[in-house]
Amino acid sequence: MTEDDTQTFDSTVYYDDDADSEAIVQKTVAVLGYGSQGHAHAQNLADSGVDVVVGLREDSSSWEAAEGDGLRVATPADAAAEADIVSVLVPDTVQPDVYENAIEPNLEAGDTLQFAHGFNIHYNQIQPPEDVDVTMVAPKSPGHLVRRNYENDEGTPGLLAIYQDATGDAHDEGLAYAAAIGCTRAGVVETSFREETETDLFGEQAVLCGGVTSLVKQGYETLVDAGYSPEMAYFECLNELKLIVDLMYEDGLGGMWDSVSDTAEYGGLTQGDVVVDEHARENMEEVLEKVQNGQFAREWIAENQAGRPSYTQLRHAEKNHEIEAVGEELRGLFAWQEETDEEESAEVKA
Ligand code: NAD
Ligand code: MG
Repeated sequence: MTEDDTQTFDSTVYYDDDADSEAIVQKTVAVLGYGSQGHAHAQNLADSGVDVVVGLREDSSSWEAAEGDGLRVATPADAAAEADIVSVLVPDTVQPDVYENAIEPNLEAGDTLQFAHGFNIHYNQIQPPEDVDVTMVAPKSPGHLVRRNYENDEGTPGLLAIYQDATGDAHDEGLAYAAAIGCTRAGVVETSFREETETDLFGEQAVLCGGVTSLVKQGYETLVDAGYSPEMAYFECLNELKLIVDLMYEDGLGGMWDSVSDTAEYGGLTQGDVVVDEHARENMEEVLEKVQNGQFAREWIAENQAGRPSYTQLRHAEKNHEIEAVGEELRGLFAWQEETDEEESAEVKA
């Protein structure tokens, strides 16, 4: 087969050989925030020989943690002032504030503003001056895996996007940053701030976080309302989801279909579209439109400005769904869960 027959994927993918560490080793990177992404970027960059200063508020509980990991720590403003590259890894909702107070006054021509998600640039919540580079290196994974993979000489797939190239070096520097945190070991896909932001929001709303939890709850409620036991409903509709997702993660949909019984395959193939039908598709298109036209962004920004009233209420309702109580009790009865918990927290601390 020729390449044309097999390759439908037309984005550029970069690997270690495409990156030149010279574009970053002479520079100082301020990593603002020491949460999920921050701790991983800071430690991986430092281990790759880059000069790193972590930017944290003076009362931050992470200050000691970062110093304990052998890193230099300063206030966000001092770190930004010193740095050539400011990696903005505080929560998206506080980035505009941190930008205004700590970053913008300390940006010099030729500096780089580096993000791991495009929300604030794409929706104009941060409007950088024209004389700085604006880049994104976004690992497609939570921070503890970005760190663990790096330590195990493995990579974490990532995205690279250039929003603004004032110096002409933004692309080389972004690739070097991606290499220094371990992403080019696995592969880095070129994208844009718009594409990353809109697909990320759509994915987490319609499929990953929103779609899946709704599917689980509706399945659970359907069984319990029909008189089946909550324990059985929990196992069928939530617990086993992990096994199915693991198979899809490893070998795609086909890998999953090959592993389940023929009965499960036939039933799944005939009934899946009955449940998630053309109405669900229309609803997905509506969700996507609200992401594209900025309606979701405006709603979320206003929600934050108002002190998160709906968010607080929705969180409360989700916590109080019956499936959560049933799950907590059941997970307590099984040994596998304890092991997984210990492994996970050990990973996060590592
Ligand atoms: P996080 O919530 O885990 O960590 C945020 C850090 O910022 C914490 O150390 C917190 O103490 C600090 N912080 C909070 N407010 C601050 C302030 N006002 N001043 C200074 N520091 C402050 O955040 P995260 O999940 O690592 O997200 C960081 C960025 O990475 C976001 O843009 C996010 O979209 C992106 N991202 C996250 C993931 C992920 O899996 N977590 C994956 C890809 C991209
Ligand atoms: Mg500077």
